Amino acid sequence: MILLNPGPVTLSARVRAALQRDDLCHREAEFATLSLGLRTSLETLYDATEHLAVLLTGSGSCAVEAMLATFAPRDAATLVISNGVYGERMALMLDCQGKPFFESRQAWGAALDLTAVSQLLDAHADIACVAVVHHETTTGRLNDLDELAALCSNRNVGLLIDAVSSFGGERIDFHRWRPLAVAATANKCLHGIPGVAFVLGRRDFLATPRGNSPSLYLDLERYVDLQRDGWSPFTQSVQGYYALDEALRELDEQGGWQRRRERYQQITDRLRGVLADLGVRAFLDRQSSASMLTAYHLPPGCSYPELHTGLKQAGFTIYAGQGQLASRVFRIATMGHLGDADVERCCEVFQSLLGQSAI
Ligand SMILES: *Cc1c(COP(=O)(O)O)cnc(C)c1O
Repeated sequence: MILLNPGPVTLSARVRAALQRDDLCHREAEFATLSLGLRTSLETLYDATEHLAVLLTGSGSCAVEAMLATFAPRDAATLVISNGVYGERMALMLDCQGKPFFESRQAWGAALDLTAVSQLLDAHADIACVAVVHHETTTGRLNDLDELAALCSNRNVGLLIDAVSSFGGERIDFHRWRPLAVAATANKCLHGIPGVAFVLGRRDFLATPRGNSPSLYLDLERYVDLQRDGWSPFTQSVQGYYALDEALRELDEQGGWQRRRERYQQITDRLRGVLADLGVRAFLDRQSSASMLTAYHLPPGCSYPELHTGLKQAGFTIYAGQGQLASRVFRIATMGHLGDADVERCCEVFQSLLGQSAI
């Protein structure tokens, strides 16, 4: 099966083979070496010299929730900017954590409204952090964080980024944005397996224990000292680490995130072109979209289940819309190990399902 959903992704043969490495206890020296290597690779991928990678066992949401648990204060507010499901989920997480927050709910698919953000920051002097999603996977919108980061730094407000579906496949400017923390996962643009997630947190912040976390398992402060030497307070996904280790080697050999981004864009452009010829309109223009995901309007007279089944029978898994877009769009992600032949075959399947003779 070729996965065209935004994680988990189609694995390369070498990443799949890494799952067969020897059984290993997470209290043995070999595990510490593996863990230290992963942390260094994650920090150097974007040259994040001011940040420390903390590895967790869980899905992307686990990393986002751990980031909010550890970095969002208990005694000052966090402003969540949402323009899709994942922004809204961060507000839910803060609510579950019993922390003070405001939410700037913005239109799904629209560019970030920074005037609204400034007004909220003006109105509430107790806002200490802004939390935002980089690539809002709900719509494919790549939120422009250059200006938001500048706004936060001018006001001395910390920036927390959900980069779960952009880390490894889009530009993340650690030096200019200076985020307090960035949360991401192994199984989207990094091409590992689900079960390993991580947060890159600012070293200066993590140097002082703050006691912000209402959760034990998600408290990154409990991990930091142990992980400095490669250890972890809880059992980690050893096979997930193996897969991420191999996936990061592969990414490095292929030319890093820049080259991966180009490859994603190339496949996305090919599919966009073929679908446009078939009369299928993209939900957002190319400039506003992330390189590796596009939402498309469902063609008239074609239901998502029909389209999904047609593609699945041919060996491709596409993704439905979420929330208010569930009945209106379908999504195609181009992350994962995809060859040119896979892409061309997918185009042919769309042509046979949606071409004139089919409708
Ligand atoms: C996939 C995703 C998540 C986390 O999802 P999980 O199912 O927990 O892995 C969080 N934020 C964004 C933007 C995502 O795309």
